[in-house]
Amino acid sequence: MRLLQAEAATRPTFWGIGPVEKALFYFLAALSTLVFAYGVYARVQRYRRGTDDPLPRLDDLSARIRSSARIVLTNQKQFDRDRVAGIWHTFVFWGFLTLFIATVILAFDEWVYRTGTAALLGTRQSFFQGDFYLSYSFVVDAMGLLFVVGLGVAIYRRYVDRTERLWGVHTSLEDGLLVWSLFLLGVGGYLTEGLRIVGTEFPAHETVSFVGYFVALVASTAGLSADLAEAVYPALWWSHALLALWFVAWIPYGKPFHVLSSFANVLTRDEQAGVRLPGVPADADPDDIGPSDIEDFSWKQLLDHDACTKCGRCSSVCPAKAAGRPLDPRDVILDLKEYRQDLDAGRTDEVPIVADGGTSVIDARTMESCLSCMACMDACPVEIEHVTQFTEMNRRLTESGEMDPNVQDSMMNVFQHGNTFGDPERERPDWVEDLDFEVPDARDEPVEFLWYVGDYPSYDERNRAVARSLARLFEAAGVDYGILYEDEQTAGNDVRRVGEEGLYEVLVEDNAAAIDDCDYDTIVTTDPHAFNTFKNEYPEFDDPDWTADDVAHYTQVVDDLLASGRLQVPASLAETVTYHDPCHLGRYNDVYEEPREVIRQTGGDLQEMPRNRNESFCCGGGGGGLWMDFDEDPKPSEERLREAVEDTDGEAVSRFVVACPMCVTMFEDGRKTGGFEDDLDIVDITELLVEAIEAGGATRTAEV
Ligand code: SF4
Ligand code: SF4
Repeated sequence: MRLLQAEAATRPTFWGIGPVEKALFYFLAALSTLVFAYGVYARVQRYRRGTDDPLPRLDDLSARIRSSARIVLTNQKQFDRDRVAGIWHTFVFWGFLTLFIATVILAFDEWVYRTGTAALLGTRQSFFQGDFYLSYSFVVDAMGLLFVVGLGVAIYRRYVDRTERLWGVHTSLEDGLLVWSLFLLGVGGYLTEGLRIVGTEFPAHETVSFVGYFVALVASTAGLSADLAEAVYPALWWSHALLALWFVAWIPYGKPFHVLSSFANVLTRDEQAGVRLPGVPADADPDDIGPSDIEDFSWKQLLDHDACTKCGRCSSVCPAKAAGRPLDPRDVILDLKEYRQDLDAGRTDEVPIVADGGTSVIDARTMESCLSCMACMDACPVEIEHVTQFTEMNRRLTESGEMDPNVQDSMMNVFQHGNTFGDPERERPDWVEDLDFEVPDARDEPVEFLWYVGDYPSYDERNRAVARSLARLFEAAGVDYGILYEDEQTAGNDVRRVGEEGLYEVLVEDNAAAIDDCDYDTIVTTDPHAFNTFKNEYPEFDDPDWTADDVAHYTQVVDDLLASGRLQVPASLAETVTYHDPCHLGRYNDVYEEPREVIRQTGGDLQEMPRNRNESFCCGGGGGGLWMDFDEDPKPSEERLREAVEDTDGEAVSRFVVACPMCVTMFEDGRKTGGFEDDLDIVDITELLVEAIEAGGATRTAEV
């Protein structure tokens, strides 16, 4: 006997399932929902035990929801750097969402519509029929197919291709369980559907369920009769239902929680995370600066830990990891999560969060390895804010006196002399002596551009050439500019990032006072690090009179001067060049095109390295990297120069162009140690421009 041969296009929701089994199913569904709800509640309660987050996380909520929905629904970050991952994740995401919505619609029809019409109209009615049913079935089958195909690709990449970034020390059973259980849910849904179609003798309208219909045809061809299908169906239906109910209950307790936590994390993200670091309250006890135990992390940071999907994108772009330093950003996030879970479950004793000597959750050397390049944050699809947490752990190390000795020396130099070299303050402006014109003193006269020269262009011989080149360009353009001479001090961007917040605050006060004493329109910096902190961090303190809009990097100013015709450069360089985006100019501040436009103006043939713009690979100098010694193989600078030599298209690159004094220093070193001296030269954009002007012989207002 066939249980049903529908007249209208529809299907029974519980075909072949008796009333007792149906009641059991409802009971288990309620249980699963309760276990799910309790799990979510417990997670939220755990976040509430974290500290308050110093930043507004839910301001302008409607805009946050809109932008987060766009990020999540488009899967845009999954496509970055890995198109295949973007495609399979989109298939799985939209397939999962469609199947979830389809289940909700079905439940609504079953529990609300049918019951409601029975009570109000006296007859049980259903909208799950006719055209609605046909459209529903087609869409669900189509999206379910994408879901299964997407998961098939994910399984292939994890287990056959063994994509490296998917595996790590925190890879565990749950990673396999997630993809396999979802895959089995998708496949199980089609098998159940196929069996029902065989059992109901292939209703004509079921061709819209084209995947299920195909499964039914295959099964029937293989000898499955309608009676056998009907007999086997309940067992298959139950296995599918139990898997689905178990999965729902498991969501808040394992990796599937990322379907919720990742959206929450994207929603509460700080757009300026890492770019401007949160300060330390003036009345903070030194023992409370930086996390000592897990409760010292803010609720947002605890959410960060839970949102991690172990995708390994951060690890795969981390220059510190690539260089063999003891840092893997994914492991840091997951070590903290695991420690919290173990502590909560009584599986471990309390230990310091970060310390030297191997007795802590995170080793000091791991945190010191971070170059603050922000590549991890740029790559993270769920907007985890690594750099903020890492800096706070560095603050703890600083407060407990466990700072790297070389960094400590640099900090002492800054404290005593206002520069990281430890050279006398009076020597800061010595670089001007080789010029055949006077560099104006911004302290004595109003200027359009107040030029903050910075430590490296002031004290480092190689970078002094960069400073002189920029001075020549300003002269050539005939602009009013001036410098602070001895009144400059280290800007402090990296002082802050190695965790020396107290010293940083002193630098803010001193530099802001010196700059505010001058009459200027725009602050222009040679160094992207100074640019970042002047633009994004200084204005958050009381002292400065300027805003972010008053600060520019020299590449922006020179680009404007060229565009307005105030500076003219003959396109005279017939060289193949490549450009390295400094982290603090590119990823930190989205300045990508101005430097390239300036380079093009020289006539140089600009060839891009594969990792360009936001995917740029750090030189190794940021976050205090310039002051530290690590065993690295290869150094980040060597790896980057190799990329320029081996991986660019077209003519061999003869010039490796940079726009950052720290990059100049790091790449000059990498050029020697990596054996690239015969391949290319390191030049700053200022030097390239001056060379073009000299080669072309004409400027607007002056000879350089
Ligand atoms: S900021 Fe850069 S160096 Fe630090 S963990 Fe992230 S990717 Fe690695
Ligand atoms: S931190 Fe972000 S990028 Fe890194 S593994 Fe976790 S989710 Fe992936």
